[in-house]
Amino acid sequence: MGSAPESPTSTDAPIPLLDIHRGNRPIRDEMLNAIAAVLDSGAFLHGPDVKQLEARVAELCGTEHAVSCASGSDAVLLALMAYDIGPGDEVIVPSFTFFATASAVWRLGAKPVFVDIEPHSFNIDPSAIEAAITPATKAIIPVHLFGQVAAMEKINELAEQHGLHVIEDAAQAIGASRADRAAGAWGDVACFSFYPTKNLGACGDAGIMTVQNAELADRLRLLAGHGMRPRYVHKVVGINSRLDSMQAAILNVKLERLHAYSEARRRNANLYDELFKAAGLDQQLTLPTVDSDCYHVWNQYTIRVPGGERDALRAHLGEAQIGTEIYYPIPLHLQECFAPLGYQTGCLPHTEQAANEVLALPIFPELTADEQRRLVNRIGQFVHRQQANAA
Ligand SMILES: *Cc1c(COP(=O)(O)O)cnc(C)c1O
Repeated sequence: MGSAPESPTSTDAPIPLLDIHRGNRPIRDEMLNAIAAVLDSGAFLHGPDVKQLEARVAELCGTEHAVSCASGSDAVLLALMAYDIGPGDEVIVPSFTFFATASAVWRLGAKPVFVDIEPHSFNIDPSAIEAAITPATKAIIPVHLFGQVAAMEKINELAEQHGLHVIEDAAQAIGASRADRAAGAWGDVACFSFYPTKNLGACGDAGIMTVQNAELADRLRLLAGHGMRPRYVHKVVGINSRLDSMQAAILNVKLERLHAYSEARRRNANLYDELFKAAGLDQQLTLPTVDSDCYHVWNQYTIRVPGGERDALRAHLGEAQIGTEIYYPIPLHLQECFAPLGYQTGCLPHTEQAANEVLALPIFPELTADEQRRLVNRIGQFVHRQQANAA
């Protein structure tokens, strides 16, 4: 037996799920200069960088207004507060999403009504929304999961028919569009997150809401600032949710490159598709799909591994130090905290199947073609071994 080389080479270097350093290195000086300028200005809150970011995000989304806040979670909470949603109200949400989509509803004393997804897009299913509407329904929160805009034409039509508010959870979809209409320009309000793993990531927490209506934008601003106007006069009870100038300055540096980042993610997704197909692996795995008319920005590239093999494949990749993640392993309707709502296993079959099958692969902009090839080869190894064992 020949002995294996002991020092790691490029052929066995770890492949992280997300490498924040590769993204930050080329813009480090620019970000430091931006931070220093805020430090010297002393305008730590409501500074010019915040105004600039709001203007640029509104422009990107094609909306009249953008109102910044402290996080994507706060954005969802503020949007619901702006519509006075509370006890006795129902809000329709997907179960296959990050927790914050539903926790905001719960926190206000309203009832999240969980519905199923379209299996091909992982996004909320409009026909399931229709079936869930009751006289108590006040709003729908579609989530543009993994960077692809949900079926907003149908969702907006339902909302109009039934007089419901539409709050887009666009946390994973900045820069995405559908039929040339941006994520953030479909609903009454749209919520974005600048959490570091999102496509436009801050160096900490930050969020923003895009809005078409001036009165609504004004109400969101009021609610995000303790409901205080003028100083020490409170007409409503709000919260303290501000995006600080340092985060805004960092985001302004990155926003200039957002399109290039999205294009790089799209290039990576295309290469995965090609590599999986060339290796014949698109039969054993289900590759993610793009709806016609959608500009997908690939916050995640999520494959499905059927036949109960997902966790074994994940372990096989983990042994080679290849990072993957499961978004999301436990659907929200089955979370312990929502047990009082009475959902049972089996009631949202597409969501539950997705939770058992999904695996997100590295897709960050700076991922190399060589890394993608190694990853696909490693998956091929696993699949062929399983096939040999089954034979
Ligand atoms: C990240 C995320 C949020 C929450 O954003 P934070 O800025 O982390 O509070 C909400 N919804 C979805 C779908 C997300 O992915």
